[in-house]
Order: sequence, then structure tokens, then C-alpha cells
Amino acid sequence: MKVYVEIDQYSGFCNGVVRAVNSAEENLSKRSVLYSLGAIVHNETELKRLEKEGLRVINLEQMSHLKDSTVLIRAHGEPPSTYALAKQNNIKLIDCTCPVVLQLQKKIAETAGQIVIFGKVGHAEVNGLVGRAEGRAVVIENKEQIDKIDFSQPINIFSQTTKDPDEFEQLCNLISSRMEDKSMLTVHNTVCRQVAQRHARLIQFAENHNVIIFVSGKESSNGRVLYELCKSHNPRTYNIQSLQQIDKKWFKEGDRIGVCGATSTPKWQLTSCAEFLKIALKSYICSKFYSIIYGNYSRF
Ligand code: SF4
Repeated sequence: MKVYVEIDQYSGFCNGVVRAVNSAEENLSKRSVLYSLGAIVHNETELKRLEKEGLRVINLEQMSHLKDSTVLIRAHGEPPSTYALAKQNNIKLIDCTCPVVLQLQKKIAETAGQIVIFGKVGHAEVNGLVGRAEGRAVVIENKEQIDKIDFSQPINIFSQTTKDPDEFEQLCNLISSRMEDKSMLTVHNTVCRQVAQRHARLIQFAENHNVIIFVSGKESSNGRVLYELCKSHNPRTYNIQSLQQIDKKWFKEGDRIGVCGATSTPKWQLTSCAEFLKIALKSYICSKFYSIIYGNYSRF
């Protein structure tokens, strides 16, 4: 049995997550325990690795009981109320809010009138954005919810950074079609450029392989979007959180297997998935030939 395994060279942490994880590791080299407000990355395996180094994930309620401590703010950012709480409790913040998210928060704070955010209700980044709008924001999760918008007022629409750019465009077109005066709609395309580029590349990657193993945590909203994208272009796409979920029945002779993931999936996890496939396919399907390659195909 011959199979090919390729890791998507564009998958792996986005810049915002790399920056936050690096900062956590750097700080943990100087102290034994560091608190993180919320999961620094939506990936259970990576979180367990960081936990072993001393990272402790806390929620807002737990932070409210901390005094004179140090807390890391993850790439998603936080609303102004969290900064006020830190000041009140003399908590030093290691602020790892992604610069792209910071820019978006600033833009929302400076925009007058009704703010519409296309995003997931309760998501940390969205909470941070809603906080910047000071009561003027309406969060829309999908096109079925557009009746939440006040169409008699000017509309400024923004997107959560990890949303599907095509879905955002479709939503904006639908909102525009409901408006008599189109000039009352201002679209701020705030999908992260890294995410937008990843969509186009991932479509190609999914189409160029027979099977896609998509590695991402259950909590990752970017993971859900990218998995659905792969699945819509390749029905033999499987989402896994751990290697134990891989089923040998998914693969056939001569398959080109693509391994990819979300912005919260570390590269090392993709590599170990590819290595696991090499061993599993060899032992279960008596594979005589296999190859692990990074970026290109090669046949053994
Ligand atoms: S997806 Fe983009 S905006 Fe969001 S944390 Fe990553 S780099 Fe920053």
C-alpha cells in the first residue's frame, strides 16, 4: 500500500497566538506560575503542555479574587472593565492582545452610532469589542439574526477577526439589500488578513488531497470555520482533537493525505499527526511504502 502524507505549510499558529504563547513561555522561565485569563489557545493538547510549565487558566470570577498578582491577557483581548478590575486589585497585566485586534477595538471605540459585529456571542474577542462600543453594539451570528439590527439608523458593520470572509460579504450584501438608503451602511472589513489568506490556500489544499485530517480543538471558532471549509471542498475531511480518533478505515491505497489545522493548532501537533499516520498506516494496512513530506510530494 502506497500513501502520501503532506502537512499544509500555511497551517499552524497565527502571529497573534505565537506572540502570546512566546510571551507566556518567556514569563514562565522567570516564575513558577503564571495566570492566564481564559485559555491562551483553543487547543487542549497545547494547553496541557503549557500547564506543565506552570500556566494556570483562570476566569474573570477567579481573577476578581486575586490581589497583587500577574495575569496574562491572551490574543483575543478584553473589554475595558477587565483593565479596571486589574487596576482595582493591583494586578499587573501581561497584555498579549493581538495588534490586529487592538486596531479593531480602537476603530470601534472611535466609530459613532450603531455598531454591528458579525461574530460569536460570548466569544472573548467579541466581548472585548462589545465593551469598546459602550452599549451601541449588536452582535449577529448569522443572516437569520439580522432583524436585531435597527435599519432606521446608520449601520457600521465589523467582523470578528476569525470569521469566514465570504460569509461576511454575503451578510453585508443581505443587509444592504434591506436598506433603502445604501449610503447609511458602512462596511469595515476586519477579517484578519492571515485568516482570509488561509481560506483561499486551504481550499486548494483540500481539493488537492483525497483525505484531509483537520487537527483542531473543539473550542476553536476558527477551527470550526476552517474545518467546514475543507469539508465543503473535500467530503473525506475528518476533524480530530487527538491522534486516538484516527480511524484506519478512512484511508485507501494510493491516497494523498493532507494534514492541516486552525490558527490555534501548533505546528508540532501537525507533525506528530503526520508521523502517527506513517506508523499507523504501516502497521494497520501493512503499508510497504509511505512518505512524510513538508510542502512537496515525493514518492518512495
Ligand atoms: S487571527 Fe489574526 S487577528 Fe486574530 S489573533 Fe490571530 S493574527 Fe491576530
